[in-house]
Amino acid sequence: MDPFCNTCFTNINDASCDLYCTQCHHVVCKNCILRNNERCSACNGKCRMVKITKDMPENVQRYFRDPVPELETLQNVVSFQEQQRNIAIGHHKQLLEDYHKLTAEVREQKKEYDRLRKVVLEIKRQKKGGRGNHGSSSSEFSTPKSSISGMTSSQFTDNSNNIAKKVAMDESFWRSTPSSTSSGGKALSQKMSRLNLQ
Ligand SMILES: [Zn+2]
Ligand SMILES: [Zn+2]
Repeated sequence: MDPFCNTCFTNINDASCDLYCTQCHHVVCKNCILRNNERCSACNGKCRMVKITKDMPENVQRYFRDPVPELETLQNVVSFQEQQRNIAIGHHKQLLEDYHKLTAEVREQKKEYDRLRKVVLEIKRQKKGGRGNHGSSSSEFSTPKSSISGMTSSQFTDNSNNIAKKVAMDESFWRSTPSSTSSGGKALSQKMSRLNLQ
């Protein structure tokens, strides 16, 4: 826009003297300033003034430029920065989603590990118990010879294995009662039932 004196309304193109932009945001011509004792003739304020030329400071020049291209540039800057933020947010959302998914997987794997560990421990315990029963049965049955008379060696072994299985079955029954509070209790008893049925 073309500057004009806010007091005598002389346009910069028609003015016979220089125009000044004042700190109080007025434009006044030199003649009006001199007539008003070097004060702003628009508001009578005593303030700094900058002569309006092509070389005036950038922060003053911008007041006389068409703001539309600057607004468009500014709009592009805002859009660009918003898009960049959205890309970053999307990336972080994806990371968070992956993190939750992996955490859930780890939790499930930990559960499965604990369950299998209990099963393995139980099988080990059973094997140990089975051998113990076999030994004690052997000594118990060895005294009254009549009780095992006619029993072959393989029949005797089968019988003691059955006893060991029965003991394990009973033990698993008591462990699988509803009063059991262990987290893997139910799964373990099911597993044990399967093992005992084989
Ligand atoms: Zn004037
Ligand atoms: Zn003023």
